[in-house]
Amino acid sequence: MQDFYRGRRLRRSSTIREMVRETVLHPSDLIQPYFVVEHQDPEFCSPIASMPGQSQLGISALIKRVGIAFRAGLRAVILFGVPGEKDEFATEAYKEEGIIQRAVRELKENFPGLTVITDVCLCEYTSHGHCGIVQDGYVQNDPTLNYLARIALSHARAGADIIAPSDMMDGRVGWLRRSLDHEGFTDIPIMSYTVKYASAFYGPFREAAESSPSFGDRKTYQMDPANSVEALREARADIEEGADVLMVKPALPYLDVVHALAGNFDLPVAAYHVSGEYSLIKAAAAQGWIDENAAAIEALSSIKRAGASMIISYFTENVLEAL
Ligand SMILES: [Zn+2]
Repeated sequence: MQDFYRGRRLRRSSTIREMVRETVLHPSDLIQPYFVVEHQDPEFCSPIASMPGQSQLGISALIKRVGIAFRAGLRAVILFGVPGEKDEFATEAYKEEGIIQRAVRELKENFPGLTVITDVCLCEYTSHGHCGIVQDGYVQNDPTLNYLARIALSHARAGADIIAPSDMMDGRVGWLRRSLDHEGFTDIPIMSYTVKYASAFYGPFREAAESSPSFGDRKTYQMDPANSVEALREARADIEEGADVLMVKPALPYLDVVHALAGNFDLPVAAYHVSGEYSLIKAAAAQGWIDENAAAIEALSSIKRAGASMIISYFTENVLEAL
């Protein structure tokens, strides 16, 4: 009767379960994304239909919303901008008075203890919706780098704490590192979207950020969902170029990749639990088919268990209290 393992001994009470728990989520693991929109009414707040609970926010609305979350324990945010005008060269992305630059200044002024991360990319600001400069119908790698550097520098000047390039152009981490260092921003870390897949799970984000490509797709720069060895090559390149944090995006369908990066490299790994992953849980919960909070915490815990120490998730605001 005695010769088998009795795992249930350590599951008998909630106290014992807590004592042997291997993964515990903390508010400091989580980063809440916000969509800041250029709008004449700074109180502007427009719910995003495909992401229930998330909204496009004018600057004052953003400050209010972050204030509530900050008091509940929010530690970090990542910002995406929705500009008033778009053009071929993403001019609004690197203006000193651009929407993100103003939002960063306001957030840092109101919440000095909050870590403000900025997404660096062209797609929300280009008329064609691609993440780089387009010539002859193709997204050009090297000409894009200078634009990314302009955006990153404008964010650093505004007071951003961490720069997060999401474009997937080759060589951009090194380019941004040199540009930041050259202007004296040697202390600003680069959280690189190292392994960003051409994923179907970004659908709702494109409504939120108004960034759907007007032609073609992003498969010439984002990674093929079928690949994981390639992820190691991407990570090695980013490390050599000076990345401080490696990110995997999306998260749940790529936990093997999160685990591989955490195991193979000694940099912190971040994972982005993306809009589609969020909306799936939201939609099922709205039907009464799933317990939203429990599912959200289980999903986020699994991302941490796989090896991510920083998790970007739209559920951050919701789960802060439960943690
Ligand atoms: Zn982009």
